[in-house]
Amino acid sequence: MAKVCLCLTGKTILKDLELVDRYRPYIDVAELRVDYLDPDERFHIRRFPALAGIPTILTVRRKIDGGNFVEGEGARIVLLAAGLAFADTDRRRNFAYVDLEEDLDVPSLEEAARTFGTKIIRSYHNFNGVDENLEQKLRSLRRAGDEIAKIAVMPHNHQEVARLYKAAESTKDIEKILIAMGPYGISTRILAERLGSHLSFTTPLAETEADSDLPVAGPGQLDPKTLVDTYRFRSLTRDTNVFGIIGYPLTATSSPQIHNKGYSRLKMDAVYIPFPVQDLPSFFSLADTLNIQGLSVTIPHKETVISYVTQRSPEIDRIGSCNTLVRTTQGWAGYNTDARGFSDSLLNFIGKQNLWYKRVTIIGAGGVAKAVAYEIHRLKGRALILNRTPLRAKEIAEPLNFAWAGLDARGMELIDHYRDIIIQTTSVGMEPHTDEDPIELYKFRGKEVVMDLIYKPEETKLLQRAAKAGCKTLNGYDMLLRQAKLQFSLFTGQEYPL
Ligand code: NAP
Repeated sequence: MAKVCLCLTGKTILKDLELVDRYRPYIDVAELRVDYLDPDERFHIRRFPALAGIPTILTVRRKIDGGNFVEGEGARIVLLAAGLAFADTDRRRNFAYVDLEEDLDVPSLEEAARTFGTKIIRSYHNFNGVDENLEQKLRSLRRAGDEIAKIAVMPHNHQEVARLYKAAESTKDIEKILIAMGPYGISTRILAERLGSHLSFTTPLAETEADSDLPVAGPGQLDPKTLVDTYRFRSLTRDTNVFGIIGYPLTATSSPQIHNKGYSRLKMDAVYIPFPVQDLPSFFSLADTLNIQGLSVTIPHKETVISYVTQRSPEIDRIGSCNTLVRTTQGWAGYNTDARGFSDSLLNFIGKQNLWYKRVTIIGAGGVAKAVAYEIHRLKGRALILNRTPLRAKEIAEPLNFAWAGLDARGMELIDHYRDIIIQTTSVGMEPHTDEDPIELYKFRGKEVVMDLIYKPEETKLLQRAAKAGCKTLNGYDMLLRQAKLQFSLFTGQEYPL
């Protein structure tokens, strides 16, 4: 089973030992990155495995391979030799692994490793892209059959990530570690078992001030707790069904927590992974390679993704926005669960079955605003749509017989005629821009029901102002949960477990 390895980039042995203790229940292996240790600390590396009490990798990574070691090659070899010296009869007190780069040609180090029961990881790093023939590279990397081949590459798109999965399929006979670094590679850190990777590297979360200057050894590494708890790394198999969310930049999503918790409670062999996607065609090639079964879709793809859909639910045609894709034998089926998630959340909040006689202001005219406007119309409410780009507001409003205007002084005046309920649907005020408010010129009377679809932060500046004026306020988390539960049922055919 693939192991979880914690990369230790502390300046002192003591700091690294503290990190091992902090994550001990979540990790199987530690990697001592000697290249990050202060020079004085290097005298003690030989004792590290015994002190840490966990199988440890000895690594002294050069700057050109993404590490921190700038001294000469001679000094590096001396450090590696010092780490491997003095055989201990109790092999647990020796380094379990040593990382030797493909171009490091020192037979005495290999001999020492073999004598002391230390497994050699033969590594190759490419920070500029993904090599064309990964299978051949994996086969030629090892100098002996008992070595682990490690390849870490930096993809520029998802099609390049797909090459790692294809190479893994044809090299099942080789002991290896395959990693796609950077934001596109997150799936390779979670799906290590599927790749046949011996282990997945992780990094500590900056939990204390003393952690804040800890460098991340490999771009894109997750922390061990997230990998094990959220993504259920230890229960994933080669055949795990993959689901996920696509969007960009996808920094503030809570969907992986919601969906993975559902799979866990139902004991399903499934995982939900965030895929930061800029280029849709390249992503769908990876989706086919991984046989991804279902996808949540978020900013900025909810409209463009419709061209990939072969069967669409009626709301997609009416709303023109799709946030859910389900793989079928005929291609992708598209749905919109934002609409129902929104209206269920609002109606539950105001304790009503419909919006008869309600006059509603919708701030924004993006993808989710379309779903909101559609639902307000379906529930017999009347609405005003205000948007920074007024023409987009007009496009949504006119077919529904709603009013529209810009986010300007006139728009603020018009709110007075539509202020039973105010729905904020833009991204203004979302983390990290928490001091922004799209209707800062509007003065709340205290009678409005105000819903902001943003859920990070929990209370936007707009909601704070509204609550202070006495309004009833609701953020977007309940809507997120409701739409995610609908997605969960579409993905799995099962109710989201309570
Ligand atoms: P979108 O299609 O990209 O639309 C963005 C909207 O925000 C547009 O109306 C845009 O106006 C407006 N906007 C962006 N920057 C602005 C600025 N500086 N000043 C004024 N207006 C600005 O995005 P979306 O999919 O509709 O999502 C919008 C928000 O809803 C996001 O914050 C998202 O997190 C949230 N959301 C929440 C849920 C949930 O379940 N709670 C579900 C979906 C979305 P222009 O037309 O002028 O560009």
